[in-house]
Order: sequence, then C-alpha cells, then structure tokens
Amino acid sequence: MTVSTPGIHHVTCIAGDPQRTINFWVETLGLRLVKRSVNQDDPGTYHFFFADAEGTPGTSMTVFPWEGMRQGKVGSGQVARTAFRVPTDSLDYWEDRFEEYGVEYQDRVERFGETVLPFSDPDGLPVELVEVDLSADEPTVPWTEFVPKQHAIRGFHSVTLWLTHPDRTADLLREMGLEKLGTEEAADGDRVRFAASGPVGKYVDVLPTTQNGRQGHGIVHHVAFQTPTEEDQAAMRSVFQSAGLRPTQQINRHWFRSVYCREFGGVLFELATSEPGYTSDEPRSELGERLVLPSEFEARREEIEDQLVEITVPRAGSAQAEE
Ligand code: ZN
Repeated sequence: MTVSTPGIHHVTCIAGDPQRTINFWVETLGLRLVKRSVNQDDPGTYHFFFADAEGTPGTSMTVFPWEGMRQGKVGSGQVARTAFRVPTDSLDYWEDRFEEYGVEYQDRVERFGETVLPFSDPDGLPVELVEVDLSADEPTVPWTEFVPKQHAIRGFHSVTLWLTHPDRTADLLREMGLEKLGTEEAADGDRVRFAASGPVGKYVDVLPTTQNGRQGHGIVHHVAFQTPTEEDQAAMRSVFQSAGLRPTQQINRHWFRSVYCREFGGVLFELATSEPGYTSDEPRSELGERLVLPSEFEARREEIEDQLVEITVPRAGSAQAEE
C-alpha cells in the first residue's frame, strides 16, 4: 500500500512567559488563538493553539509555555526552522511590522526560487515567512484581526530538520510518501527538499549539522503530519514499524488522534487525524475564548484554573485590520 500525507498538521514549540507568547502569536503575527487548554501530560501548564480563522489542518502552531525551563539551543535532532506561508508581495509589510513591534529579523534569502524572511519569536524560536502564490482553491482562511488579508499568514510552508546523519531520515520521508524535490547548496550546507501533496505545510527540508541541540525555550518540541483518516494513520504507522522505528499506540488528543514516533535522527514526529478538529467542542465564533479541558480533566477544573496564571488575549476592538 502506498501512503501519502498532505503535509504538516501542526508544530509544537516550547516558550517561556504565557502572556508574552499570546501577545506575539496573536497580535504581532496575527494568528487566531483557536484553543486555550492545558498540557494533557502536565495539566498545571497551558497549551495554546494559534492557527488560521478555522483551525485548518496545517495552520496551527501550538505552544507549551513552560516558564521554569531553561533556554534551549537549536541543533541536531530538531526541527530547527519553522516556516509559514504569506502571499506574494508581503515581506515589505512584515519587515515594517517587525520594526514596529521590535521583532528580531534577518536579511531575506532565496531558496528553491522563493523568498524567505527569517525572524525569531520572543524566546528565540527561529521562524521564517515564505512568499507563495496562493491558488484559487487555497484551503486556509486568514484571521484578519491584526494583519490584513493580503499579508496574513496562511499556514505552514515547511519545517527544516537539522540532522547529524540525514540519510536514514531522508529515506523515511520518502517511505512516508514525500517526494524528493532537489538539493540546494547554501552557506549552511546542502539543503534537500521533500514535498508532500500539499498545498499547506507541504515541504520538509533536511540539513546536515554537527551542532548539538538542547531542549528548552525557543525550541520545537515536535512536528505533526496530517493523516486525515484513521486508515491513513494506521498505514503511516505501519511505515514507521516497517522501517524499524517504534511508534506509540494511538493517543486521544481530544481535537485529533495522535501517534508519536521518534525518527532516526531524533526528531519527534506525530501523526494527527483531521477529526474531530478544533470546532468539535467550541463554536467557530468562540474559538479560544475560554479554557477548554479534555473531559478527563473537567472534574478538576477549579484546581487546574487556580494553578494557571491569568492571561489576556489581545483584541483589536471592533475594527478589522486595514486592507
Ligand atoms: Zn502535537
């Protein structure tokens, strides 16, 4: 059986201060807080989900604000870069916005014929914006509270994996149904690009590195790939097993069902179903407005809420961002 994936489902990273995290992803980057919840393995800490207006698969950056953790270091065995798509002719807008909000950004680079603007979140997480031509059947729905539609982030573009020995991971990506697109020499090494069926979260780039990494603030925790149905997920899980990896059993993550598997290079992969989705427990108009707890934690709501620091979600008021 041949397997395939449309691409990235979500990326999860580690941050520090919860309020600073919300301010950055919601106001500065213009994403929608589609879910405020707690870490299902550590319910005394938040888990935030920032996405497009609908929480479309392939658009959500999820963040664990773990204040007590140390600063991380990007290196081997990690998603070292996370890139988002923005419409063509948006990067001038974003550079102006980064100046206005004091965001650290670097010079634009060209990669596989596309223009990339690298920047960092407040915890030092390396993020990129990539200009793409949106097609007429673009599946993402931009959230325009702070950033106008013509410049709004439209889900993930890619992740870049840093690996000491990229070859086995490259083989695995092909076994997962991604197609090798090509290799591009760059100052940071030979970048090999793999493409899923897309269009959102379509690419995985692999770069060799000898640099050791360390988990902590500003580091990606894992990347999840879309396995829309249970059957897709079971088939992809079998690919991991056949490759000699040890995927977990399916775990109910409330908004999707997940299988986790650490790949050969040390990056934690997840396979996430499309269902039930972020609108399964809140109406679309109210996504992210209150703390949502998976049912097994509901009986402890008061105790859990007492442990969490208060947060305020930035609001633009009644006015939408100017077109
Ligand atoms: Zn995940």
